[in-house]
Amino acid sequence: MIEELIDSAVGGEDTLWGAADLSYSEFYDRYSTAIVVAQAYDRYVPEDPYDEQGYHEVMSRFRDTIDQKIARLAQMLEQAGIEHYVPPVAQRDEQSLIAPFSFKHGAVLAGLGWIGKNSLLITRKFGPRVRLGAVLIRDSMECGEPIVKSGCRNCRACVDACPWGMIKGINWTPTTRRDELLDYQRCNAKRREYIESHGRKHTCGYCLLACPWGKKRK
Ligand code: SF4
Ligand code: SF4
Repeated sequence: MIEELIDSAVGGEDTLWGAADLSYSEFYDRYSTAIVVAQAYDRYVPEDPYDEQGYHEVMSRFRDTIDQKIARLAQMLEQAGIEHYVPPVAQRDEQSLIAPFSFKHGAVLAGLGWIGKNSLLITRKFGPRVRLGAVLIRDSMECGEPIVKSGCRNCRACVDACPWGMIKGINWTPTTRRDELLDYQRCNAKRREYIESHGRKHTCGYCLLACPWGKKRK
């Protein structure tokens, strides 16, 4: 069973995974299903006091963790003779900031969570404290129930946490565009200012760390 194969490759208490029907996507001529994996990093995020360098290191470490899990899953699919493709994480360009395959959109369709007011995937178990990865496969399999309703309700923690007021405070629905939720280009420009002094974007994340869903319990 493919579910067992996926479980043995990426499963665990710190991981969520789900399958999404790809019929909406440009990849559908070749691949039927996206397996979307959310790797939690909530237990290791330095939240109080805020530590940008520490947060950056956590993000980097869990980027490696999800990459390793996705590589393991791809290898096991290869061994099982299941045609697959690992879509790149990188965005097409700095203007649109859109990746060829949106992990967040796939995760919503797979039933892993909704899009928060901060435009991040919010899972019930780990909140936004996850790193996402995906593998597209040719085979069809049972898919998750897409999430169609925001769980943010009246919360405004991320809206208030953004130092530059980039988040507009709108509750997401499946037809909400990213620019209706936040000024993502200004957010990216602000974070890019850091490159000159540090050689990388500012990790920021105030809007992620403020989210009550999946917040570290003391
Ligand atoms: S990443 Fe930072 S700048 Fe961008 S919306 Fe979140 S808190 Fe604001
Ligand atoms: S902080 Fe509140 S409004 Fe923002 S994403 Fe989390 S639950 Fe939604």
